[in-house]
Amino acid sequence: MLPFKLIYSDEYYLPIGQHVFPAEKYRRVHERLLETKVADGSDFITPQPASDQDILLVHTPQYVYKLKTGTLSAREEMELEIPYSPELVHAFWLAAGGSVLAADCALKDGVAINIGGGFHHAFPDHGEGFCMIHDVAVAIRRMQRDNKIRTAMTVDCDVHHGNGTAAIFAGTHTASEPLPSSGPSTLGRPGMMRSSHTGNVFTISLHQENNYPAFKPPSSIDVDLPDGITDDDYLAWLDNALSSGLRQFTPDLICYIAGADPYREDQLGGLGLTIAGLKKRDELVFRVAKTRGIPVMVTYAGGYGRRVEDTVTLHCNTVVSAKEVFGGQV
Ligand SMILES: [Zn+2]
Repeated sequence: MLPFKLIYSDEYYLPIGQHVFPAEKYRRVHERLLETKVADGSDFITPQPASDQDILLVHTPQYVYKLKTGTLSAREEMELEIPYSPELVHAFWLAAGGSVLAADCALKDGVAINIGGGFHHAFPDHGEGFCMIHDVAVAIRRMQRDNKIRTAMTVDCDVHHGNGTAAIFAGTHTASEPLPSSGPSTLGRPGMMRSSHTGNVFTISLHQENNYPAFKPPSSIDVDLPDGITDDDYLAWLDNALSSGLRQFTPDLICYIAGADPYREDQLGGLGLTIAGLKKRDELVFRVAKTRGIPVMVTYAGGYGRRVEDTVTLHCNTVVSAKEVFGGQV
């Protein structure tokens, strides 16, 4: 039995038909974790859909109304890039409920993993890039409303920039610690790190610069990575961004968005990370959180490997890494 909870429902399945987003990945991760005995049935808890009240902590009443009544415009549905249905709305409300539950469990156990969620391209008033509802933002705002946390830090390692996250938590102050406009000189590859933050949520995004979304609203720390960056350079950038962020800001909760699409065989990504490198990435985030005694909740976000098997392996490895770092027999 794991010393932390995995949050999962069979209803996480996204009813979107044939699509580059492997809608069945959640079910397959759940199956694989059980088959490989990384987890047993008692490690999983089933979420309830978020309440409309929770969704409205982040999203506008107009947008929520359109989703609930099926009245998105053709353009809004096109931007979402997945076909609207009431069942899809249910799946997103459930993913948000899962992230709320994961945040709550992380505050009790030190870590918790939502076997879903991470829909970081959703904005308050619209969805885009396969993301209808920003489950992580809903979880943060709900924890803040309940006075369970005051501050949070998002650590977004999906290959795509966390534009919705940045927009939702945008602020106006400048960084307490100015950063050089390029990375540490020890890094062999180019890249760019920018920093500015305010408010009670600090956002970090490491992403491929030459990728969706075209417009990247500023996060507290943005690390623009060059095409094809490999394991060691990526891990150095991540280490640097985490150290810098945690020098500037002390979060009550870390929300780790563990996208599987920095993988070198991803169909929608252009970075060069291996399966082993991505596992080290997960370990690095968990070690930093554990060392500093900061609870961490995890969501899965993207993953479009040429072989769905690889995407499943990458997502399962996030659980294996948590188990190695936070205890429990592997
Ligand atoms: Zn992505």
